Amino acid sequence: MNISIFELLTIGIGPSSSHTVGPMRAAKTFVDDLQSLLSQVVSIRVELYGSLALTGGGHGTAPAILNGLEGQTPEDVQPEMVPLRAQQIIDQQIIQLKGEHPIAFDMAHDFLFHYNETLPQHPNGMRFSAFNAGGQLLKTADIFSIGGGFIVKSDAFNQPLAEEKTVPYPFATARELLAHCKQHSLNISDIMLANECVWRSKAEVKHHLLHIADVMKHCIERGCTATETYLPGSLHVKRRAPSLYAKLSKDGTQKIQDMMNWVNLYALAVNEENAAGGRVVTAPTNGAAGIIPAVLSYYIHFCENATDDGIIRYLLTAGAIAILYKKGASISAAEVGCQGEVGVACSMAAGALAEILGGTPNQVENAAEIGMEHNLGLTCDPIAGLVQIPCIERNTMGSIQAINAAQLALMGDGEHLVSLDKVIATMLQTGRDMQTSYKETAKGGLAVNHPEC
Ligand code: SF4
Repeated sequence: MNISIFELLTIGIGPSSSHTVGPMRAAKTFVDDLQSLLSQVVSIRVELYGSLALTGGGHGTAPAILNGLEGQTPEDVQPEMVPLRAQQIIDQQIIQLKGEHPIAFDMAHDFLFHYNETLPQHPNGMRFSAFNAGGQLLKTADIFSIGGGFIVKSDAFNQPLAEEKTVPYPFATARELLAHCKQHSLNISDIMLANECVWRSKAEVKHHLLHIADVMKHCIERGCTATETYLPGSLHVKRRAPSLYAKLSKDGTQKIQDMMNWVNLYALAVNEENAAGGRVVTAPTNGAAGIIPAVLSYYIHFCENATDDGIIRYLLTAGAIAILYKKGASISAAEVGCQGEVGVACSMAAGALAEILGGTPNQVENAAEIGMEHNLGLTCDPIAGLVQIPCIERNTMGSIQAINAAQLALMGDGEHLVSLDKVIATMLQTGRDMQTSYKETAKGGLAVNHPEC
């Protein structure tokens, strides 16, 4: 299974890659698969299971699915239109399948939440069914949102996620990756770029990566200049990025003594945009979408001689590290808790920063290992099922931790006791040992202990 960086860093909408982006893709996939049956469909049923049912309300799952059934994609939909269009569908009780086939739709009857049931393959399961005028089932499909916006149909579980390509430097472990680097005297980003070129030309890869960096930059800018005081949802969480930005930018410069505040700001800005359902880059998930842009912005604004080439190599290295987690463990909080989101993003950013600051492949591996080691056991317990508390602030922690991990690794010689592969295996085992209530169910931790009575 070879994974392109553009499956890991995708442009989508908030607030959740597994509960918003994945479900929208799943719904669109289902209606696309109807093909010639579409004209016969008179009713549709959507069922959510497990974590999707439990936290889907706070994660915008239903609006995402309704828009997906109408043919919208996370990449192209106008983020602000998603809740508005969903409300119209619910109020008018008509949905336009694929944007072309109107049918009656009753939210209370046709959209079901199975709070106490989980489909066997994965905690984030959806079942879509389409019926004809006689009430007969035309088509049904179980589709799973397996983290980071990836979806898998039940019959394709454990199959390759995309058309299988033979890459010049295949790797599933850090050990294999480092062996390629050593044998060919290449950096991790070189390996990743060579592999990526089986999908598209080098110029296209670089162009797409700079575009992704641009979307990240604009997301930070929107978060810093947002005019709404509060984020959506029952918690009435205040946006902090605009006031922090106003404080820090008083004299128009980004002073080195304020570096930590700026990095915090970049992460807050992205995650507040994400919580508001805005346009973000899933990296590798939406809940943890602030860390890669925050550390990238640290490089751009606080490191000497930042270049476009450095930005490209940063994203390539981050992608290589994400592949190690995707293949060796999981990036789904419903499977492994927040280790798989903030932990993985921290590890990716730490390794990527180490590489562009001149680290050897062993130092990069060391940085990525440090980035995860101190996130082992991190649970997922978002209050009210909203991707706000602890998520937004947690991205500031992950960003600063990533910079520190890179610095620690760069001060060493790459030699260290616990390998990245061992820490990835430990992360997966810890996730398996973690009680289900701490894995994106809003049934444990802060989610049940707030507010205190
Ligand atoms: S607690 Fe972590 S894993 Fe859970 S929703 Fe928030 S950011 Fe994602």
